Amino acid sequence: MADIEITLADGAKRAVAAGSSVLDVAKDISVSLAKKAVAGKVNDQLVSLDQELDGNAKLEIVTKDSEEGLQVIWNTAAVVLEAAVHEIYSDIHFGTKGNVEHGFYCDTDNGSEQISVDSLPAIEDKMAELIKAKLPLEQEFLSEEEALKVVDGDPYRAKLVHAQAKDGKVSVYKINDNVILNSGVVLENTSEVKVFKLLSVAGAYWEGKSSNPMLQRIYGTAFLKQKDLDAELARQQEARDRDHRVIGNNLDLFFVDPKVGAGLPYWMPKGATIRRTIERYIIDKEVANGYQHVYTPVLMNLDAYKTSGHWEHYREDMFPPMDMGDGEMLELRPMNCPSHIQVYKHHIRSYRELPIRIAELGMMHRYEKSGALSGLQRVREMTLNDGHTFVAPDQIQDEFKKILSLMVEVYDDFDITDYTFRLSYRDPKNTKKYFDDDEMWNKSQAMLKAAMDDLGLDYVEAEGEAAFYGPKLDVQTKTALGNEETLSTIQLDFMLPERFDLHYVGADGEDHRPVMIHRGLVSTMERFTAYLTEIYKGAFPTWLAPKQVTIIPVNPKFHGDYAEKLRAKMAAKQIRVDVDNRNEKMGYKIREAQTQKVPYVLVVGDQELEAGTVSVRKYGQKESESENNNMFIDSLLAEIQNYSRT
Ligand code: ATP
Ligand code: ZN
Repeated sequence: MADIEITLADGAKRAVAAGSSVLDVAKDISVSLAKKAVAGKVNDQLVSLDQELDGNAKLEIVTKDSEEGLQVIWNTAAVVLEAAVHEIYSDIHFGTKGNVEHGFYCDTDNGSEQISVDSLPAIEDKMAELIKAKLPLEQEFLSEEEALKVVDGDPYRAKLVHAQAKDGKVSVYKINDNVILNSGVVLENTSEVKVFKLLSVAGAYWEGKSSNPMLQRIYGTAFLKQKDLDAELARQQEARDRDHRVIGNNLDLFFVDPKVGAGLPYWMPKGATIRRTIERYIIDKEVANGYQHVYTPVLMNLDAYKTSGHWEHYREDMFPPMDMGDGEMLELRPMNCPSHIQVYKHHIRSYRELPIRIAELGMMHRYEKSGALSGLQRVREMTLNDGHTFVAPDQIQDEFKKILSLMVEVYDDFDITDYTFRLSYRDPKNTKKYFDDDEMWNKSQAMLKAAMDDLGLDYVEAEGEAAFYGPKLDVQTKTALGNEETLSTIQLDFMLPERFDLHYVGADGEDHRPVMIHRGLVSTMERFTAYLTEIYKGAFPTWLAPKQVTIIPVNPKFHGDYAEKLRAKMAAKQIRVDVDNRNEKMGYKIREAQTQKVPYVLVVGDQELEAGTVSVRKYGQKESESENNNMFIDSLLAEIQNYSRT
């Protein structure tokens, strides 16, 4: 047979007979490679080992221990899962199955007795049985009619048969009497799924549409080695432990109730205390750095958003305008820029005043898609640590650097270390989203890049992530669930000063156009609090902790007065402190303070009362230490003042 040319992953070329299978080529390369091979990637498409090669192609041999190998393992595990479920529930219906980011899933509909987490152990046992039996997994092709007969009465799979049929043929695998629709690549036999675990069950709409029936989606994951599975389970546990929605609920920081308003958070007293502390911190910091803080309304005449371009480019994210009936149209602001522009415009500005830095904790509303909403991370009402600096063109670089160094200082105080920079550019093809002015974009994008290079900072470049009015530098962080989110942002803008006809009087006595820099240092109070909750796992450093000290008298009757005196002394110094006088055991009170992650627990009994000391137990430490009460208060105040992490 004629030879064809195969280009391997390392670029090496090989002549093989046309019609050779992927496995043939693997064997030809080396026996050990063939042993480890689980699939091939022909021209970047995952195929099974018996796929024949009938033309020149790029070929990568996929081994078990590679990332793609894991995809094959998961796909196989999903097939075994469906078979196991079918063996237990013979009348069950199946939706789709396949791989997700960290494992596999299979959708089920068991009528009035839906699958739940309680069903998982039995399903796992059945899977283990099928795996142990080392059942061969051979691909077979049925005609559409035959396949429909197999799935008789299952409306979901009937639809999948039609969707998956190629040239009238449907790919299936058989495990015992179960015929499983599957066109992906699987391992040779069931026993090659070495270690697996079923993780959870969650509702999932058929075809992802909320008007369709809700199916029960079983999630699981699988690996070659137990240690890889253990590592994945530990990672998932860690993500759950860090999830700000879980911690926010346990510590009673905030809630969001879709019945009251999706994406509209309620800050409970403890969450509000954290927020107030952040707000005071950032306002003080900005004022010390030349920002002028203002308050401006959340409602504005729609015309301002027509002038700014928001109405044209950002309408999808805005709440619909309110028609006041007398010709006035009011808009809930999605951004604070037009408001700060009004502040700038209220006076004639001179070059001597520049840069003018207007800042506000500005409340804004954005109509985020309901599926994107997540705790405090992504909400519909938010308060941004916003600031707009108005500069002369030759001040841009300098001001940009000042903002960056202020940001780094702030990050340091909050102990934020894990972040990356992203330069966000426009997508030149997306003329609907982006303001149309090539020169402006090229100039401002180049300017940001030059400033970053000048500072020697690493960054990635992302096309299509800019704001509609200009490019930006975003600071990217990761949420507990692994999603990347923007925390801080610095944005250059030549457009809004033009549209709102802003000027300042230059040294030459003429009018000049300022440039605007939009910046948010600690993001919105919502996203920032969510982020901090996750990085601290709810154990906020003392300066941010909603409650900083709990005093526990050994016996409230005898030591209550001393405890109260200490409380009053600390409260007078703005320390957030209370006395736990409840009629509970001391051990219980200490444990509860630990669960609430209170930084300091002070136990006071006879000894302390006599010596004027306190027995200090720090969060996370097992041992207590005796300390003079005044000295404890002084060191606590220093800790708070220095924003200390420990
Ligand atoms: P994103 O890409 O995250 O939607 P954006 O680029 O639209 O944000 P900006 O207009 O730059 O956001 O808003 C400033 C900052 O406000 C963002 O960097 C982000 O930290 C925060 N933020 C934006 N949208 C939300 C939201 N829906 N909920 C909470 N915080 C938000
Ligand atoms: Zn702005």
